Amino acid sequence: MSKKVLIDLYKLRNLDECKAEAIYRTSPDDKSFKTIRELATFQFTCRKCDNAPCINACPADALEKDKDGIITRAVNLCIRCKSCITICPFGTMMNDLFEVKTSDYSYMDLSDEAELEKFAAAYPDDIVSVVDIDEDPRQNIYKLNDKILVKEYIWE
Ligand code: SF4
Ligand code: SF4
Repeated sequence: MSKKVLIDLYKLRNLDECKAEAIYRTSPDDKSFKTIRELATFQFTCRKCDNAPCINACPADALEKDKDGIITRAVNLCIRCKSCITICPFGTMMNDLFEVKTSDYSYMDLSDEAELEKFAAAYPDDIVSVVDIDEDPRQNIYKLNDKILVKEYIWE
């Protein structure tokens, strides 16, 4: 079984500071720059409101729902005003979720096994760890992709 990283999103959200940020490149040409935190937050933490206040509050039309009802952000349109973060009634989004970090900040590409291990090492084991398990909804563990598992308490 290949190595995966398990991210406890609930505990990560409660940290004062995010020590390292992760991305996932599907190919060397993949320039999309969504962090794993953002992708996981919209997929697992967001309650997918019917009349999504975050979309209505966005002054740049940067948010929309995809065919599965998952919110996506157009990075090229977003002006990082945080209106969506403030208006979300469930505090879904971490305050720094869309911040662009300074150039000396590490964005680790979790499609690379060495970087995956480095990312895990930046956090305590109970928040991010390298595992060889599979998705297990009974334990609140869900698959984001083949390399990334997320622990989250999904609202139903
Ligand atoms: S308002 Fe919050 S919970 Fe509702 S769809 Fe937007 S991000 Fe998700
Ligand atoms: S932070 Fe970006 S996505 Fe959110 S409301 Fe502002 S422009 Fe829209």
